[in-house]
Amino acid sequence: MSFTINSRPAINILNIPLLKQQQLQASVLRLDEVHPVVSGNKWYKLKQYLALAQSTGKSAILTFGGAYSNHIVATAAACHAAGLRSIGIIRGEEPKVYSPTLSDAAQHGMQLFFVTREAYREKQIPAQLERTLTPEIYMLVGEGGYGKEGMLGAADIFTGIMLKSYSHIICSVGTGTTLAGLTYAALPHQQVIGISALKNNHSLESAVQFLLPTDKQEAFQILHEHHFGGYAKYTPDLLDSMNTWYRQTGIPSDFVYTGKMFSAFQHLSAEGYFPVGSNILLVHSGGLQGNRSLPAGTLIF
Ligand SMILES: *Cc1c(COP(=O)(O)O)cnc(C)c1O
Repeated sequence: MSFTINSRPAINILNIPLLKQQQLQASVLRLDEVHPVVSGNKWYKLKQYLALAQSTGKSAILTFGGAYSNHIVATAAACHAAGLRSIGIIRGEEPKVYSPTLSDAAQHGMQLFFVTREAYREKQIPAQLERTLTPEIYMLVGEGGYGKEGMLGAADIFTGIMLKSYSHIICSVGTGTTLAGLTYAALPHQQVIGISALKNNHSLESAVQFLLPTDKQEAFQILHEHHFGGYAKYTPDLLDSMNTWYRQTGIPSDFVYTGKMFSAFQHLSAEGYFPVGSNILLVHSGGLQGNRSLPAGTLIF
């Protein structure tokens, strides 16, 4: 795999009837085009961990995720490129047939260990692995890259962007690390809004606050009503909305995160959530590889 990061992702100005009707402006920051595998926000969340691992002489990164995790495959590819070993602790039994995500991770040299859901919840390191590894050689990266380094990396998402003209910034939320980074980097007049991809996870607010300095802890909000049934769940409505969005804008989305964010954005716009004249920046956090777990032909892109 070649490892070239596109450090100047495009900003697409949206031109859809809804925006004209509501007298809004909106644009999409295309982090999905940063890299084909280490897509979207994952590269930003990982880069400080990679740098820290290298500067402290670690030879491996150990992290956690599910069988379809964008974070797992991104970590595998980024470590491979950085010359670090990667170890993934995967939730659940080893499947007979690997998901595309897991085969890609393995192909990028990630060593995979499958653990029970209980062991996963406790973030236990399997005994056979612990015997061969000492903390001096590996660096632990939280599930989804959650942590201060992840937040500071995500704050770089806005580097080189003329941020001033936007009134609102919107992103999708899994662990909240990206939302924290964007809140950290946002200007005082901007509203930062996270669309949760999870159902009823009301510990997210405190998880985001934990990563932020005191003066930024109230500078964001999370909306919890746009999960379409829960994490990684989808409905025919969601898939329709993703296809319509692609037809109207030419922008592909994923069904776990960004499809839900774009749908939420349209609902909010239609119901007058944004004041007239608002200029909204939607952060496309990538994740398109995850669509490979949908039945073929579901999406038009
Ligand atoms: C991982 C992921 C997210 C969630 O990011 P967090 O920083 O964990 O909140 C959002 N969108 C996409 C496409 C992702 O892959």
